Amino acid sequence: MEKTYKNCQSCGMPLKKSPNGGGTEADGSTSTMYCAYCYENGAFKQPDWSVGQMQEFVKGKMKEMGFPGFLGGFFTKGIPKLKRWS
Ligand SMILES: [Zn+2]
Repeated sequence: MEKTYKNCQSCGMPLKKSPNGGGTEADGSTSTMYCAYCYENGAFKQPDWSVGQMQEFVKGKMKEMGFPGFLGGFFTKGIPKLKRWS
């Protein structure tokens, strides 16, 4: 049975906040693991990124959304523990 995740296993964002509630699989169904920013048509949108690049990206994104920097640092600390990076 497939496990369902609350947060994207690539960037850590809540899947609820993702456009369409998640990325798309190759067959067009909604991914239960990755958000629409990371995953589309069954593939990662940034396949070459290191975990450090993802952390920088998410920090920037959170800043754009108006979160203070320390919160971005706190949030992105958990990214290396996500499925994609383990
Ligand atoms: Zn994501």
